[in-house]
Amino acid sequence: MSKGQVFQYDVVVIGGGLAALTAAISAKEAGTAVAIITKGKAGMGGSSVLTNAVFSAIFSPGDTPEQFLQDMIVGSRYLTHQRLAKILAEECTYRVNELETKYRINLERERKIATPGHAFPRRVYAGNGQGRNVTTAMRDYAREIGVVFHEQASLVELLQDNGTVCGVTFDMEKERVVAYSAAVILATGGFGGLYDSTDNPRDVTGEGIGLAFRHGAKLIDMEFVQFYPYRLKTPANIDVLTKIFGKGAILVNEENERFMDKYPRQELETRDVLCYAMYQQKKVLLDFSHLSKEDLQQDSPQLYRLYQKGYTGDWVMQPVQHYCMGGIQTDEWGRTGVAGLYACGECTGGLHGANRLGGGSLTEILVFGPRVGQMAANETVPLPQKENLPLGSEDHDDRITAAMEQDMMKTLKEIMWTKVGIERSTDSLVEAATQLAAMLAQIETADGSKAKQLADKIRVAWAAAYAGSLRKESRGAHRLQNITEEKKEWEKNIVIEKSTFIGA
Ligand SMILES: Cc1cc2nc3c(=O)[nH]c(=O)nc-3n(C[C@H](O)[C@H](O)[C@H](O)COP(=O)(O)OP(=O)(O)OC[C@H]3O[C@@H](n4cnc5c(N)ncnc54)[C@H](O)[C@@H]3O)c2cc1C
Repeated sequence: MSKGQVFQYDVVVIGGGLAALTAAISAKEAGTAVAIITKGKAGMGGSSVLTNAVFSAIFSPGDTPEQFLQDMIVGSRYLTHQRLAKILAEECTYRVNELETKYRINLERERKIATPGHAFPRRVYAGNGQGRNVTTAMRDYAREIGVVFHEQASLVELLQDNGTVCGVTFDMEKERVVAYSAAVILATGGFGGLYDSTDNPRDVTGEGIGLAFRHGAKLIDMEFVQFYPYRLKTPANIDVLTKIFGKGAILVNEENERFMDKYPRQELETRDVLCYAMYQQKKVLLDFSHLSKEDLQQDSPQLYRLYQKGYTGDWVMQPVQHYCMGGIQTDEWGRTGVAGLYACGECTGGLHGANRLGGGSLTEILVFGPRVGQMAANETVPLPQKENLPLGSEDHDDRITAAMEQDMMKTLKEIMWTKVGIERSTDSLVEAATQLAAMLAQIETADGSKAKQLADKIRVAWAAAYAGSLRKESRGAHRLQNITEEKKEWEKNIVIEKSTFIGA
């Protein structure tokens, strides 16, 4: 890695999804010099671009912020940070409407409740139900108002002066680049890419959360990870819409046995029950032979298009990791407790508690992204004199080869999927945390950006396993095989800080 360019901004935002874009836009509109640094292309990376663009807002007669707050409290199994939830309930409608008024994205509001947990219809489909239409509109807007983009760039390190953030280093086109800035906003997404089976894209691997943790930020609710059952793996990686199960489609195992037959709601059981039942099968096959062509076309158009191509092999389904409720703990302005470091989006935790309501993540981003961008812009303090800034470019060759990195990632993903996944018990979680701590010890002191990023990913995985091993109950998305009931004494959040780390 050769020493590259040096830039200076007021606010630097890491990430290229919806959280990064909303935060960058508001920091820019507050009058500061702002840059986005992201892997891939801004507006085209992360989970944000893959969604059906479902947001939540209050528009139904009789619905109120108080009712929405109440739904979030129950949905989170009483673990939501109520100050954050109240802000979301109060500000969501204004922010969702802004998609139309500010960004010219069309909105469609549902008539009937389609998402469990919401007491009123609250779903709003934006941009014809395509995440890409939302993220690209915001990317174009950000570019127009003068946000600078550093793309195909990967965060390596946070620079600090006497404990206060003063910039970052990142790798871009084989160069180590420095960007000095008084505020850094992390919007790096969740840690889905640390699981063997996930619907998150490859660039979402949690290292931003690990970096924040390494620099002293606290992590909250790390044990709560959502899994999603309706995912086709072969012949293509797509969501299968649930409507087809009400009309004759079924799931069978390798012995052609309909294993969901013994459950009252069969294939339409709650996601955790269905995921667990699927996970226990050697193979899960989708059988939609009893469905009419018309129903298939109407209810699952993507599946219909595949079927029309004449595929004759097995239609293999697999549950996937979907969403991380946990992440960096922040206040309502995205402050992380580390001076100058802010965070928003799926890399943060605390709002959704043990489970997230449908549409909750994108809405969270619309509400909190602008608050965080604004506060980061307001709180910028002058950087130290140039000669006193940390160089941040001391460079060492990577001691981790690509093959070693691949090997370690493979092991890490297996551990996460088999021990910190759908099937988890206190023993499996303890075992995982111990294995991950040992992996971290192997590379913690190795030089080079690959080693640093890998170590940060392992830190996040460890935190998820460790938090899970502490919670001695089942609650929300955390379903233990050895303790199946929810316990009143565990109606509290688990917060992990650096001093908690138990090495190998
Ligand atoms: C298939 C799918 C459908 C979904 N549908 C919905 C929905 O309809 N409604 C809803 O509310 N939620 C939905 N979700 C959840 C929601 O999409 C995500 O929680 C949300 O998009 C996260 O946005 P974000 O900006 O925080 O992160 P992301 O959109 O994941 O973006 C993270 C960004 O950070 C960048 N990055 C990561 N690490 C680094 C690094 N080290 N250096 C530089 N850049 C980095 C990535 O490249 C990426 O650009 C869905 C999720 C999936 C996977």
